[in-house]
Amino acid sequence: MSVLIAGAGGFIGGQFVRALLDRGIAVRAVDRKPTDEWYYCSSSSENVVCDLKEKESCDRATRGVEQVYNFAADMGGMGFIEHNKALCMLSVLINTHLLLASRENGVKRYFFASSACVYPDYRQKKTDVEALKESDAYPAMAEDGYGWEKLFSERMCRHFHEDFGLATRIGRYHNVYGPYGTWDGGREKAPAAISRKVALAVMAGKHEIEIWGDGEQTRSFMYIDDCLKGTELLMHSNCDEPLNIGSDEMVSINELVDLVESIAGVTLKRTYQLDAPTGVRGRNSDNTKIRQTFGWAPSIALADGMEQTYRWVYDQVKARAEGRAFVAAYE
Ligand code: NAD
Repeated sequence: MSVLIAGAGGFIGGQFVRALLDRGIAVRAVDRKPTDEWYYCSSSSENVVCDLKEKESCDRATRGVEQVYNFAADMGGMGFIEHNKALCMLSVLINTHLLLASRENGVKRYFFASSACVYPDYRQKKTDVEALKESDAYPAMAEDGYGWEKLFSERMCRHFHEDFGLATRIGRYHNVYGPYGTWDGGREKAPAAISRKVALAVMAGKHEIEIWGDGEQTRSFMYIDDCLKGTELLMHSNCDEPLNIGSDEMVSINELVDLVESIAGVTLKRTYQLDAPTGVRGRNSDNTKIRQTFGWAPSIALADGMEQTYRWVYDQVKARAEGRAFVAAYE
């Protein structure tokens, strides 16, 4: 069996390639970035650099593969998606062309990486928010740009399943974090951004940190290993409805900073950037459906995952300060 990982040069795609190769599965890894910018790159996979917005690239990428995992998208944290709505929406071309090519090339199963950003703003207005269950996505009022693209692409997957018989699976990820992810440059999300800021403060001996918003906004964060496990369970199941894949350990951003400070052994003076983009006020994953379906739900404690993440980000920050380039994982 051969598997296509679209977006293999990114955070989740790269970790997925590694996990599949470890199990002896043949992988075609595709991304538009040059391979020396991939977070993980192995000589054991077939590595292809091309733009999956192009239909011809999708045709070539899906030829001879049985399963497709679509992790390719223009994405980032709030700082990116709030200012790049058109770019985010253009990812619709990737999923649409990949679905068409998958159908034409006889792909058996197709996974789409959707997001908690499909959920409507009106359900996420309080910090002590009720956790989001799958049916809450409608009536729809997704996150402008990025969220609407995900919701539309979910439905495209659904109709390729109903009308053309392509087995599509849809995971709604809630904030995935861990080592080998984006940690600077404007697309990073809160766990990596806070780790970087704390690492810089530690190295400079300047014990201050800037926090976006008032820090009381709440989220849940899923460690990458839980993301990989949940995705694999979903891909090989009969569940053809969108499924939350997220942690339900909700914390405020201030609590996340507390945690990273304690891992780093520092206390920082906080300043709050009240005009910075913060997204919805509160968000958590309702894991009733994933538990019912698999008898399992993401469970890696935030404290354990952040320990790994902070250490990795610290090493990246240190490497850069010493004039060494970005440290990717190569085999
Ligand atoms: P990432 O940015 O690290 O990886 C995405 C990869 O897609 C990048 O390497 C990028 O170069 C590639 N890509 C973008 N456009 C492309 C194109 N036209 N052709 C080929 N490659 C292209 O992001 P990630 O965190 O690994 O996320 C993977 C998927 O999961 C995305 O679809 C994202 O929207 C979704 N998701 C992620 C999170 C999260 O917290 N990380 C949460 C919800 C959903």
